[in-house]
Amino acid sequence: MIIIFNDEHTRVKAATALSNGILKNPVFFKAISDHPSFDLSTASPQIIADLMAKSDLEFKIEIFYPNVLQSIKYRKTFAFTDGRFPNTLFLNFKKLERETEDIAATIIHESIHALDDAAENETFGHGNNSAVGKENTAPYWIGNLAYRMLKNNPDAPLLAFDQVEDDNEV
Ligand SMILES: [Zn+2]
Repeated sequence: MIIIFNDEHTRVKAATALSNGILKNPVFFKAISDHPSFDLSTASPQIIADLMAKSDLEFKIEIFYPNVLQSIKYRKTFAFTDGRFPNTLFLNFKKLERETEDIAATIIHESIHALDDAAENETFGHGNNSAVGKENTAPYWIGNLAYRMLKNNPDAPLLAFDQVEDDNEV
């Protein structure tokens, strides 16, 4: 798996480089395959680590620039995917004032979704978009592993990757 970003945005470029670095790090894959099990997953951590290491999936990053109305709708959304653009992650421009490591963890979290979508015989997502009780699903756990490794802090606070949209709240 490789992350591709061809636009000009310093922090996203740096986050892409961090993501690709961790996707080449044997310590990262060892930590995943050593994990006992993931919730909501038919695949063992070992299988997921192997899929990640061997996949030739190219995961493209684009920046999404919301207009005024979209800024409201997507005010809590770090990133989203769109079925019309497979293997592409749209990062919300309004949500890029974050640590580079945090953005990289978003990319890794979403790349697990892309890998899950591509894996025909396995499923390892996290159901709905509430972060509650999702810490041990593959996308959350691996995203947080990436974050803690990049921060060089095993106790860094857990990230809540998917923010729930509530259209009635506007
Ligand atoms: Zn997710």
